[in-house]
Amino acid sequence: MCDLPEARRLKVLLAEDARFARHLLQRVLAGWGYEVVLAEDGEQAWRVLQGPDAPSIALLDWMMPGLDGLEVCRKVRQAGREPYTYIILLTGRDRQQDVVEGLAAGADDYLRKPFDNLELEARIRTGRRIAELHGELIAAREALREQATTDSLTGLANRRTILETLGRELERCRRLATACAIVFVDLDHFKHVNDTHGHPAGDEVLRQAASTMRAILRPYDLVGRYGGEEFVVVLPDCDAAGARAAGERLRASVAGTAISVGGVSLRVTCSLGIAVGDSRNGWDRDRLLNAADAAMYSAKRAGRDRIVVAGEDEGTAADTVEAKPAGPAPAGRRRGSRPGSAR
Ligand SMILES: [Mg+2]
Repeated sequence: MCDLPEARRLKVLLAEDARFARHLLQRVLAGWGYEVVLAEDGEQAWRVLQGPDAPSIALLDWMMPGLDGLEVCRKVRQAGREPYTYIILLTGRDRQQDVVEGLAAGADDYLRKPFDNLELEARIRTGRRIAELHGELIAAREALREQATTDSLTGLANRRTILETLGRELERCRRLATACAIVFVDLDHFKHVNDTHGHPAGDEVLRQAASTMRAILRPYDLVGRYGGEEFVVVLPDCDAAGARAAGERLRASVAGTAISVGGVSLRVTCSLGIAVGDSRNGWDRDRLLNAADAAMYSAKRAGRDRIVVAGEDEGTAADTVEAKPAGPAPAGRRRGSRPGSAR
């Protein structure tokens, strides 16, 4: 009767303590193409619904030993897990207040025994529509979350995620009085890549540089695209010496990786600026971002393809760090007026 091929993939939980009724219904449901998961009492039903890959539709007998169908309903709704479980209560009770009680416990629908199989099938189809819509909503929400937190070109964290994560990590490190390093990584002469090879080639360079960096960082480090050809790496529980070592690995791996675009093999280098939040420098996010950014500019001025650690190298690197207003300015606008911004 149910000839939709995708119906075979849909799991239905059937919780019924009466053996004969359970087997009868199982055969009917299997005949419609559903994958039937059986439970002989409420406890079993609850375990199935909590488990991985739980059925999205549950037929629960009301009267069962242990947990009854109503209690299973309440527990499922209380747990509020996703994806949604569409619950149809099956019962011999037929007083109006029973119906109300069943729906109040979180059941979506209600069938009085004995019921007609065609009616059951129609109700399961309704449940299936609801479950599918819910699944689509979850997928849409996840896609939005992904878009809101990820840089679409490189797949790295975007600026907003970097700022949020950095704020959180610095606060955590402040409480524990441990160090947290911030690394600004800016690709050198990137404008030249775009001008010479075109923007698609520039995009490919950004993508490959991003994946090179991600590959050599620790799983708990965060690397994100801050804007343009600028990346920020957050290294929790990392002091200046550790950050310098990590920065050197990043620098060397970017410089040592040939990037092939349209049959041409390109080499790019990057300049890195490091600032460390610790008891000496404090853990203020915007101050540290500015310090790392300024250190990165010192590295540019000192000849590029190198690392400058704020407060350690800058006196010798090239020049003094400019005073900058607090708070990072939006990407793209902030360096237009700077001298020597060929990057
Ligand atoms: Mg029963």
